Amino acid sequence: MGLQELTAVSRFYGSSDEYVIAGGGNTSFKDREYLYIKASGTSLATIDESGFVKMDRSKLALIWKKNYSPKSEERETAVLADMMAARCSGEERKRPSVEVQLHDILPFAYVVHTHPTLVNSLTCSQRGEGTVRELFDAIWIPSINPGYTLSLAVKKALDLYRAEKNRDARIILLQNHGAFVAADTIDEIKAVYGQILNVIDERIKRRPDLTRDDTEAPAQVRDLGRALCKLADTAASGGTDCCFEFSRNPEILRLVQDKAAFYPVSSAYTPDHIVYAGSDPLFVEDALLIEGAWQAHIDKTGRPPRIVAVKGLGVFSLGASEKTAHDAMELFLDSVKLAVYTESFGGPCFMERDKIDFINNWEAEHYRSKIAAEK
Ligand SMILES: [Zn+2]
Repeated sequence: MGLQELTAVSRFYGSSDEYVIAGGGNTSFKDREYLYIKASGTSLATIDESGFVKMDRSKLALIWKKNYSPKSEERETAVLADMMAARCSGEERKRPSVEVQLHDILPFAYVVHTHPTLVNSLTCSQRGEGTVRELFDAIWIPSINPGYTLSLAVKKALDLYRAEKNRDARIILLQNHGAFVAADTIDEIKAVYGQILNVIDERIKRRPDLTRDDTEAPAQVRDLGRALCKLADTAASGGTDCCFEFSRNPEILRLVQDKAAFYPVSSAYTPDHIVYAGSDPLFVEDALLIEGAWQAHIDKTGRPPRIVAVKGLGVFSLGASEKTAHDAMELFLDSVKLAVYTESFGGPCFMERDKIDFINNWEAEHYRSKIAAEK
């Protein structure tokens, strides 16, 4: 029991694309004094014991007793400073996951937080909350900004659950985000997650056909991809080396018939979708008008698109490396699955615009601090 088992369970979930897409998710183990949580910037699939940050739980507990500024930016900065101060000595080079508070307040040895597509087919659907209440003994947390705000909402919900049921909640489902599962053994974590996915899977009425379709003229795809990369390079002013991926399958073809058909993938389901694929995919009616559509998108959103769908053709993802282009496509394909799965639960429910803006700003901030740290 402990760090070794935590490493093993982290790798198990990190390498399963049913649970984790690209780099999302985090895990922890705690005893009375210390919490070991995944450091930000590490990937669950390949994590080893050095990928966890050892935190002093008595210092983390102090955060709840403090009064922070009501202004979101000031508050998050102050909380972050207190979180950093709760790292044990020798851990100064690592940064704990932003969800560290939430891990700490769950009174079980192990906590595994993931973003499974099946779970998100409930957390991102119109009838999500009602269905969760009907199917699971779980806490439902409405869509909320990450960080201190989220951990405070979860703390209140956990206290309420305990007062009502005289025991502690093991499952927390976060609207437009994912799941937290807590237990004292790894076997229990796996049993609970397995059961959650099975129960949802049984209720899925239609599944997407994602069989690759390579029938389209490859020259047209290549030329369009290059044209998009040229636009992306110009937008990135520093002159990066843009890469693209192209996807086309029966489900994508259904979605790119016209703008109305594209609606179920036209916005962001979860923060992960924003982080890896951007919040606003661009739908282009005519491949010949791509340049104008690109500029209009930048004028409207302030950012170049990372996903470009072309009517009747398919979908391009763009990135500054092959990996980022690939990750963007993976998350877009996840949106395609969610578009179909949510049909079984009343249709899609995207993140609200203010929550999307918060993540976009958060991302920009995160990026700046990462660059500053690397300098
Ligand atoms: Zn998460």
